[in-house]
Amino acid sequence: VFFRPIPLFALFGFQVRLDASWFLLAVLVVWSLATGLFPQRLPGLEPAVYWWMGVLGLIGLAASIVLHELAHALVARRHGMPIRGITLFIFGGVAEMQDEATSPRAEFLMAVAGPLMSFAVAGLMWLLAGAGLPETVALVAGYLALINLVLAVFNLVPAFPLDGGRMLRAALWGWTGDLVRSTRVASAIGSGFGVLLIVLGVVAVVGGDFVAGMWWFLIGLFVRAAAAGALEGVAVREAFAGRPVSDFMRRDPIAADADATVAELVSEYVFRHYLKSFPVVDRGRLVGCVGVEDVRKVEEARRPLVRVREVMEPCDAERTVAPETDAAAALRQMQRTGRTRLIVVRTGELVGVVSLSDLLSYLSMARDLGMRPPPPPASREEAPAPWGRGHASADGRGWR
Ligand SMILES: [Zn+2]
Repeated sequence: VFFRPIPLFALFGFQVRLDASWFLLAVLVVWSLATGLFPQRLPGLEPAVYWWMGVLGLIGLAASIVLHELAHALVARRHGMPIRGITLFIFGGVAEMQDEATSPRAEFLMAVAGPLMSFAVAGLMWLLAGAGLPETVALVAGYLALINLVLAVFNLVPAFPLDGGRMLRAALWGWTGDLVRSTRVASAIGSGFGVLLIVLGVVAVVGGDFVAGMWWFLIGLFVRAAAAGALEGVAVREAFAGRPVSDFMRRDPIAADADATVAELVSEYVFRHYLKSFPVVDRGRLVGCVGVEDVRKVEEARRPLVRVREVMEPCDAERTVAPETDAAAALRQMQRTGRTRLIVVRTGELVGVVSLSDLLSYLSMARDLGMRPPPPPASREEAPAPWGRGHASADGRGWR
């Protein structure tokens, strides 16, 4: 995913988006269908007809991928796993999960739904291809039957992050109760499968099939990177071991006074602490949030006259977090929203701030030491937090 995806439309409440990289796939698909597959199977037509068939094939392919991802998204939502949307990109599509799966059963059902949908679409297209429609339409339907079959079978390979890998992980997780070890197994297979695709790609390029070879090569790289990313994700979750945000937050955060002027906000807060946003307090109560973007709304000459309370905004759910929230969930919230600091709030009371840099330095310490260190001394007023609910890893080999 290279650029910000383009929103297309909403489907059952899921926003469907198009990543710019998908256009490359689109051009390749139309071109290979219109100049390769279709003229081979049905010779003697006008070139324009082949191009239109190619476009129809592409639209069908896009719809097939969206249906596959929609099946994942609907099952995920049913099991309490919110999905942010469906994005089409160069290697197909992705239903973006906001969080890890809630249970092995939920993950298994979510993963199997996509291939099942693709099998169903393949069957439907196969029926359509034999329904006595014009030859051109029947050929496109036949192509879509085949591509959906490939989509289902390829995704059933038990290599994480493919659906089959998720199913394998869920099965192992349900059986052993150990998510990290299960992810390690499924990711190792994913990584190996990635290498296999890379090798197949190189073989194909050497054999003269440059486009297909590059394709396998790139998908192999992608699968390997995604397998490593999944492992990283559970390692992070393991490192935090269910520790709450309150273990990592800084108490007594820098908060702007609601009655300070915008000019004071700039000189006393922004340029003193080099932070882009601040919680705003009025006699200890959190009353809002203010950021550099709010300052920009006020002309420079008027900044000594306007008070912070007039430009601040309510602190939305994106920038706040509860002290008992899992620290790994707070980290995901930062990654999702792009905010590097979250305000820790308990029933309207400002209790602290948790920052990305603190969470990351904790993670890197955990990694360097190959064990789980105690939480950082985030607070100077309070006694250092105990070792928490986790345990040091017994094999001493760390997280990787
Ligand atoms: Zn899938």
